[in-house]
Amino acid sequence: MRLTILGCSGSVPCPDKPASGYLLEASGFRLLMDLGNGTLAELQRHADPLEVDAMLLSHLHADHCADVTALTVLRRFHPSVLGGRALPRLPLHGPSESATRLARAYAPDAVELADTDLADVFDFRPLSGEAFQLGPFEVLPVPVVHPCEAYGFRITAEGRTLAFTGDTAVTDELDRLADGVDVLLAEASWTHDLTRPAGMHLSGVEAGALAARTGAGKLLLTHVLPWTDGDAVLAEAHTTFNGDTRLVEVGDEYEI
Ligand SMILES: [Zn+2]
Ligand SMILES: [Zn+2]
Repeated sequence: MRLTILGCSGSVPCPDKPASGYLLEASGFRLLMDLGNGTLAELQRHADPLEVDAMLLSHLHADHCADVTALTVLRRFHPSVLGGRALPRLPLHGPSESATRLARAYAPDAVELADTDLADVFDFRPLSGEAFQLGPFEVLPVPVVHPCEAYGFRITAEGRTLAFTGDTAVTDELDRLADGVDVLLAEASWTHDLTRPAGMHLSGVEAGALAARTGAGKLLLTHVLPWTDGDAVLAEAHTTFNGDTRLVEVGDEYEI
């Protein structure tokens, strides 16, 4: 499978660096994983947003889902759609509040039904701990620790496996998520500063330790906050993991 980085800035988008979003492709199937602020713009460099096949949302913080509003506009009002092109409803697997949260983000008030119900565009499917199939992708959502309902994803296709932590603090669930994976895409929002808030995010030290514990083949670091020194996060990860470790950049493509 191929992983393309659509955005990797943690919490806040930066110039030329959208927030969190990733495109996974295998056997011609296109799967979006998060669609934070600015990522829909980057997606258009790599794929037609009308031809995405399914979508996963790790959680409902804006830096992971804000551009679903713009994707709604595209899929409702693109000239080809208004001209009669029939688009399938896009399967959207996300936290239980996805349908209401994204509708509220889409429009300020309930003037019309289309402002409060996006079900004509998306087929909302609430995540649980159960695995499911999307085209060639087998997806296992794993609950993680964050201030809201949040998941990591263990994704297998064509005999290869990727684990994505989403946003999370350290938890034993991450060991199950990443056990023996070919690639671990781990958030590392900040350095291992003892004054950092608890229960929210990983440090570079913690992301590296997770990769080492689980025997990951490669570690990709993402979701570094704009005010965090990415080189310092990468150096931290090297202290706990001896394997191949990269700090991802927007537009990077990885064959997994
Ligand atoms: Zn985030
Ligand atoms: Zn978050």
